Amino acid sequence: MISIASGLLSAGISHAQQPINKLEPISFAKVQIDDSFWKPRIDKVATATLPACINYTEFKTPRIRNFENAAKKKGPHVGIYYDDSDVYKALEAIAYSLRNHPDSALEKKADEWIDKVAAAQMPDGYLDTYFQLRDISKRWTDMEKHEDYNAGHLIEAAVAYYNTTGKTKLLNVAIRLANHIDSTFRLSGRHWVSGHEEIELALMKLYHLTGNDRYLKLADYYLNQRGHGYGYSPSWPDPKSHEYYQDDVPVRDAEKIKGHAVRAMYLYTGTADVAAVTGDTGYLNAVQRIWYDIVYRNMYLTGGIGSSGANEGFTVDYDLPNVDAYCETCASVGMVLWNQRMNLLTGESKYIDILERTLYNAALDGLSLSGDHFFYGNPLASTGQYQRSEWFGTACCPANIARLVASLGNYIYNQSKDGIWVNLFIGSKTITSINQSAVTIEQHTNYPWDGEVNISVSPEKKSNLSLHIRIPGWAQGHPVPGDLYYFRSSNAIPFTLTVNGKEAAYHIEKGYAVIDRGWRKGDLVQLKLPMPVQLVAANATVKEDVNRLAIQRGPLIYCVEEADNHGQAWNILLPENTVFSNSYQKEILGGVVTISASLPVINVAADGLSLNTEKKTVTAIPYYVWCNRDAGGMQVWLPMTIKDVKLNYDTKCIP
Ligand SMILES: [Zn+2]
Repeated sequence: MISIASGLLSAGISHAQQPINKLEPISFAKVQIDDSFWKPRIDKVATATLPACINYTEFKTPRIRNFENAAKKKGPHVGIYYDDSDVYKALEAIAYSLRNHPDSALEKKADEWIDKVAAAQMPDGYLDTYFQLRDISKRWTDMEKHEDYNAGHLIEAAVAYYNTTGKTKLLNVAIRLANHIDSTFRLSGRHWVSGHEEIELALMKLYHLTGNDRYLKLADYYLNQRGHGYGYSPSWPDPKSHEYYQDDVPVRDAEKIKGHAVRAMYLYTGTADVAAVTGDTGYLNAVQRIWYDIVYRNMYLTGGIGSSGANEGFTVDYDLPNVDAYCETCASVGMVLWNQRMNLLTGESKYIDILERTLYNAALDGLSLSGDHFFYGNPLASTGQYQRSEWFGTACCPANIARLVASLGNYIYNQSKDGIWVNLFIGSKTITSINQSAVTIEQHTNYPWDGEVNISVSPEKKSNLSLHIRIPGWAQGHPVPGDLYYFRSSNAIPFTLTVNGKEAAYHIEKGYAVIDRGWRKGDLVQLKLPMPVQLVAANATVKEDVNRLAIQRGPLIYCVEEADNHGQAWNILLPENTVFSNSYQKEILGGVVTISASLPVINVAADGLSLNTEKKTVTAIPYYVWCNRDAGGMQVWLPMTIKDVKLNYDTKCIP
C-alpha cells in the first residue's frame, strides 16, 4: 500500500517545469458562498440532488453492488461499462458539498462507498468492475470501453475528497490505479488511446496535489498518443469513427472541433492543463484555434454545444437546430471547466464571459428547481415533447451538474502574486494571501437580477494590490466574441465604478476594470452595471434563426413558455422595436425576473388557411427555469414578422 504521506514526501512539491499560468484560481475550499441566487441551489444539491444520486447509484441500480461483487470475485456485473464512473462522480460531488454543508451521515455514506471501492481494487492496482466481473483477460484491449475514463473520475473524486476531508483511503486507491496505468502503457512503451477523454485532466489534478511528475508525464503521454492511428476499438472498427473521439489528427494539429462534445471538452481541458505546466506551444495554439471554432461557429446562444444527438456532438459549422439541439448537460459542464483553464492561461475575460453564459443557461438548465429531476439534452425550443427525468440509463449528467454547482466556489476568484480577479458576481467571502498579507474579499450582490455589485477589500494591513473586476461582454455591446450572435443595439452600456463612494481610477485590461491602489481595511468598491433587456440576432448563416430574435438580460437568455402565455409558445412574434418591462416575481419559479411586452400573437383564421395577429401581453422567463411546471411548448428564438412563420396546413399548427 502506498501512503499519501510518503508519496508527497518522496515526490517533493517542486515541479519539473515552470508553470506558465499567470493566474491561480482561489479554491472552493477557501470560498464561502452566501448568495441569494446560488446558495439555495447549492443547498438543493446537498438535500435533493445527492440523495437522488445515492438512491439511484446504490439502491435502484446495482452500481455499488458491482464493487461488492468485484471484491468477492463473484457474481455478475450488471449495467454498462462506464457505470463505475457514476459512483466516482457522486463521491466527488459529495466531497465539494461537504465543504459547504458538513453532514456526518453523508460523509459516512461516502466512507462506506470508499471502503467498497478500495476492497474491489486488484493487487496490481487495476480497478474496473466491468472487466473484473466479466473477463479480466480482455482488460485494456478496447479503447472504447472507458477504463481510463472511469479511472479519471476516480482520481478526481479522490483529490476532491482528500481536499475536503483530509482522508487518504480513496486517494491511495487512485494513486495505485494511476501507477498501474503508467506502468502498463507509458513505462512499457505501449501505444494506447483513451476512447473517452477525462483521465488527462484528472492526472493533472493528481500531479498538482502530489507534486509527482509521473502523472504530468502520463497526462502528456495520453495527449501525444492521439491522431497517429494507435487507437483501436473492436466496437468501432471504421477508421472514420476516430473523429468521434478526437483521434483523427494529433492534438497539436487540430483545426476543427469534431466528434463527441463531452469527450472534446474534457480533452481540451486536459490539454490546457498540461500546456499550463509545460508551456507546449503546440497545445496552446491548438486550444485557442478550437475555442474560436466553437465560439465563432458552433455554439448555441445559451452556451450549449453539440447540436446532434446522432454523435452526441458536432456536425458542420453553423448547424444549430433549436428543437433538435442536443446540448448535453455534461458538455456544458465541460465548457465551464475548459473556459476556466483558458482564462487562467491568458488572463482574458472573454473566456469567463463564455463560462458565465454556459453556467447560467445551458448548464443550470440541466437541474430542476426541485433538485431531483434532470435534462440530458437542453434544446432551445420544444413543442411539448421534452420533460425532465429522475434518472437516465446512461446517467452521466445528474452527478455532473451536482459536482459543478457544489464546486461553484472554484470559479469566482483568481489571484496572482499581486492581484485579485473577480470573475463571477456571486455573494461570497474569501480570505487569501497576497504579498504575505491576508486579504479578505467580500461580495454582496443581487446578480443576475440586477447589476449592482459591492466588493469590500480588507487587507490585514495597508497594502498595494490590483483588483481586476470583469466587465461582462454583454455590458460592452456584444453577447459573445465574434459575430455568431450580436445585439440589435450594440452600444456599450455605461457602467460606474466607485471606491468608497468616489469615482474610481481604473483602466481596462483584457476585459477587466483594473483598480491599482493602496488598500485599507474596509475599502468598498461598487460596480453598477445597468441591465436593460437586449435583443439578440444570429449570424445569417445560422439557418434556423434567420429573421428571428432572442431576449437576453444580463447574463440570462430568456424564453417564452406555454404556461405563461395563453397555452401557446409557437404563435408569438417579436418585432425589433418592442418595448419591454421587467420585474422580480417572488412567487414564480422560485423567484425570477420576468420580462413582459405587448406582442403580436398569431391566430389561425376561421377558414383554417390563413393567419392573422392580435396584440397580447407576453411574458418571458429565464431559459434555465423552463419545464419546471408541465411539459409544454417553449421557444428561445422568436420570429420577427408573420412572413417568417409558416402554417402547417395538415395540422393547422404553427409552424
Ligand atoms: Zn451527460
